[in-house]
Amino acid sequence: MTTHQDLIDRDRKVTFHASTHLRDFANGDAAGRVITGGKGINIIDKDGREFIDGFAGLYCVNIGYGRTEVAEAIYQQALEMAYYHTYVGHSNEPQIALSEKILELAGPGMSKVYYGLGGSDANETQLKLVRYYNNVLGRPQKKKVISRQRGYHGSGLATGSLTGLKAFHDQFDLPMAGILHTEAPYYYHRAAEQQGMSEREFSAWCAGKLEEMILAEGPDTVAAFIGEPVLGTGGIVPPPEGYWEAIQAVLDKYDILLIADEVVCGFGRIGADFGSHKYGIKPDLITVAKGLTSAYQPLSGVIVGDRVWKVLEQGTGELGPIGHGWTYSGHALGCAAALANLAIIEREKLTQNAVDTGGYLQQRMQQAFGNHPIVGEARGVGMLAALEFSVDPESRCHFDPSLKVGPRIAAAAMEENLIARAMPQGDILGFAPPLIATRDDIDEIVARTERAVNKVT
Ligand code: PLP
Repeated sequence: MTTHQDLIDRDRKVTFHASTHLRDFANGDAAGRVITGGKGINIIDKDGREFIDGFAGLYCVNIGYGRTEVAEAIYQQALEMAYYHTYVGHSNEPQIALSEKILELAGPGMSKVYYGLGGSDANETQLKLVRYYNNVLGRPQKKKVISRQRGYHGSGLATGSLTGLKAFHDQFDLPMAGILHTEAPYYYHRAAEQQGMSEREFSAWCAGKLEEMILAEGPDTVAAFIGEPVLGTGGIVPPPEGYWEAIQAVLDKYDILLIADEVVCGFGRIGADFGSHKYGIKPDLITVAKGLTSAYQPLSGVIVGDRVWKVLEQGTGELGPIGHGWTYSGHALGCAAALANLAIIEREKLTQNAVDTGGYLQQRMQQAFGNHPIVGEARGVGMLAALEFSVDPESRCHFDPSLKVGPRIAAAAMEENLIARAMPQGDILGFAPPLIATRDDIDEIVARTERAVNKVT
C-alpha cells in the first residue's frame, strides 16, 4: 500500500511548489502533505487526518468540498462536448449561459465577458485591453497603470508587477516599467504615522497621494488604476470609510480607467455579489476567478464595461480582429462548473450567509481577540477575517520578523487541525472559510485559533 510518506517522498523528487522554500522541501526539512479528499468545510490528507479548511483552499472553495452536483455538471458536459475553442465567434452553450449570468449579477454598465483560467491571466488581459483602448483613442502615451502597495493581482511578469509585495518583485527584476504603486488603504498600520486621522481623513489622504502620483507622472500618461475592493493577500484589509468614493473621484477627474480585481471578493465572499457593489465602486473592468467556480475547474473572467467595449468594437472596425486569445478561453467544462457553482450559491443563499454567519465570524473574532495581549487588530468583512499580531497592541509595534510569529501560529493551528493562512507580509493570520460555514463551524474555528495563539504566546 502506498503510504502518505511514500507519496511525499516521490513529490519531493518531482514537483516544484509555489511559495515554498525549495531547498528545504527537496531535502525533507520542510513538511509536505498530500490531500486526498474533502467534504463540506473539511479536507482530508492521505493519513485520513481531517482539517477544517479555514481558508477555503486559497479563498476559493466557497461552496465547500465534495459537491457532487458540480462534479455531475462537469461530467455531463464532458460527455457532450468537453472542448472546442472560442476563437472567431465559436461558442458553447455553458459559456453563453454563464456570460448572461455574470452580466446579470454584475449589473448595469457591464457589457461582455472574456474568459481565462486564473486571476493572473485575466489581469494580463486587462492590461492589454487598457493599452488597446488608449491606442484606439489616439493616446499612445496614456499607458501607465497604478496599483497599490500590498495589492495582489497575480504572479506573472506584468501581473506580478501589479502585485505590491516585495517577495514577488525581488530576484525577478520587477516591477516592469510603467507600473507604479500608491499607498495601501491600511488604516491600522498607517494610523500611528498619520496621527489622529479619522478613517475618512485617512481615505482622503490616500486619494491625495494617488493624485500627487498622477500629477507627478502626468495625467495624460496614466491609463488605469487597479485595486481589490478589500486588500486580500496583502493582509485582508477592508477599506477605510469613504476610501473608494475618494479614489473614484480622482480617477474620474483624470480620465483614468478603474479595474476592480474581484478575484477574491466576487460571488459572495464579503456578503455582496461583488465587492464593487458593497463599496459603491463603479469599475470600467472587473476581474473574476476563484469563487466563480469555487475551484472545481480553473476559470477566470474579464468583465468589460460599456465604455471600454465601445472602443474595442470601434478599434476592430478600423484595425481588424483583436490580437488576443487563450486556447482554453470559455472552456466548456469550466463554464459548466461555474453555472453549477453559481446555482448553489443562489439556491443556498450563500451570499446572505456571508452577511449573517460572516457577521458572526467578525463578532466572535472581536470577542476572542479584541483585547488579546498579542493581537493588534482583529478585522474583516463578511467571510474574510484577519488577526494582526503585535508585540504591543497599544503602539502597534510588530514582532521581530525573525520570530516568525504568524507562521508559528499557523503551524500551531495545523496541530489543532485548523488551516488558517499566515499571510505573506507581516504577522497576519488570515481566515476565509467556505461560505457554507455555520455558526457552530465558526465557534470551532475561533476555539482552535485561541488554542493556537495561546500556545505560541
Ligand atoms: N487577483 C487577486 C485579488 C488574487 O487574490 C489572486 C490570487 O490569489 C489573483 C489575482 C491571481 O489569481 P491566480 O492565482 O488564479 O492567477
